[in-house]
Amino acid sequence: MKAHDGMYIGGAWRPAAGTDTIAVVNPADEQVIAHVPAGTAEDVDAAVRAARAAFPGWAATPPAGRAARIGALRDVLAARADEIAETVTAELGAPLKLSQTVHAGLPVMVAGSYAELAASYAFEERHGNSTVFLEPVGVVGAITPWNYPLHQIVAKVAPALAAGCTVVLKPAEDTPLTAQLFAEAVEEAGLPAGVFNLVTGLGPVAGQALAEHEDVDLVSFTGSTAVGRRIGALAGGAVKRVALELGGKSANVILPGADLAKAVSVGVANVMSNSGQTCSAWTRMLVDADRYEEAVALAAEAVAKYVPGERVGPLVNARQRARVRGYIERGIEEGARVVAGGPEAPLPTGYYVSPTVFADVTPEMTIAREEIFGPVVSILKYEDEADALRIANDTVYGLAGAVWAADDAEAVAFARRMDTGQVDINGGRFNPLAPFGGYKQSGVGRELGAHGLAEYLQTKSLQF
Ligand code: NAD
Repeated sequence: MKAHDGMYIGGAWRPAAGTDTIAVVNPADEQVIAHVPAGTAEDVDAAVRAARAAFPGWAATPPAGRAARIGALRDVLAARADEIAETVTAELGAPLKLSQTVHAGLPVMVAGSYAELAASYAFEERHGNSTVFLEPVGVVGAITPWNYPLHQIVAKVAPALAAGCTVVLKPAEDTPLTAQLFAEAVEEAGLPAGVFNLVTGLGPVAGQALAEHEDVDLVSFTGSTAVGRRIGALAGGAVKRVALELGGKSANVILPGADLAKAVSVGVANVMSNSGQTCSAWTRMLVDADRYEEAVALAAEAVAKYVPGERVGPLVNARQRARVRGYIERGIEEGARVVAGGPEAPLPTGYYVSPTVFADVTPEMTIAREEIFGPVVSILKYEDEADALRIANDTVYGLAGAVWAADDAEAVAFARRMDTGQVDINGGRFNPLAPFGGYKQSGVGRELGAHGLAEYLQTKSLQF
């Protein structure tokens, strides 16, 4: 596949400081499809300087001007959607249809929402005898994961640009080609040089250099809890702003009056989508004792539709496949019942894992506690509503969730007692304006919508 052999810094593709490269592998056939440069601290420093130099001009651009550029970026992403979908499929392994609808489609929606928000947001407020100005924080270091390669980038870059910040992006090493396409789109959209900069590279080298850089004002990170902790600690030490979007172990609570068939089939689909590599996936399905076996049978039936290599893609790399298989083996060892799938590889080539459903899962089992990040659903039994709430909240995470009930009011009453940042009511529907982010150890800060924009602002008050 086409790849740039340099970094996008200060509005141009420049040679990398070092000579190391990263091989990009197609997880569906395990073939190397491209190489990209492995950035060093020197590349990161050059990118941060470019972002710093561009900051005063971009921050002073009126919101309508920033909105126009973000709107142009949205249009380029829409025009190049096919190329984006093919690239995501090549480096993530996602089925092409998923890449077209979600991986290429979602970022267009999110960029469009920030073109509108940049124009309409109240960057100035009046409180009594004070005028409060909401000003951009400065240079943003964005570190993104591979699971939704373009969405994760746009969910950070678009609000940062809308706020008037400039950005240095270090994308995941598994999916750098989508990030390079994004940089091309930025250039095509006519954003001023240095407003967006890209450094590809390894997490512990380029990512760490960006998180540690003293001229970065805010670090926005999405990924594992382990790395998130480290970045939070670094930011704390330097007293700089940080946003962390980490893991999840979300509950899909099916209350007794709910449409069971619908709740189970949508619940299974939610986990199978993107091969389970979704931080907000509803990985714990909670069903009342009376309808438990019926739900298990429905889940086994529903998961049969998810054929590896057709509707379900591989995992991103061999390490993730080994990790997920390890969790499936652990589930069996700890006494959960496999009703579909299991640890055996479904296909001889590619990093595929069998779509798996576990029944008889209890809250203390590893598969009910840790984020698996694969196509694995755990079905837990509850006795009554209080028990369901206790199980739903019995996790260190609090990112998302779902509640199904006979009517919305009953589901809302339950959802209000869940310790989690986002809940879908009777199925829900994606809303790019809804704040997304975690309670508890799922993170700090919010992405998307006006709340996502506010992360990149700091307040100054003037008293009269
Ligand atoms: P990771 O946290 O290692 O990688 C995420 C990003 O952080 C990548 O860009 C990576 O290069 C960078 N990074 C890694 N080490 C760094 C460091 N020391 N300093 C700065 N940046 C660093 O995640 P992973 O290893 O790719 O995935 C492991 C697990 O993380 C998954 O199984 C899943 O549980 C979780 N995960 C969560 C999300 C999410 O959306 N919340 C996304 C991907 C992975």
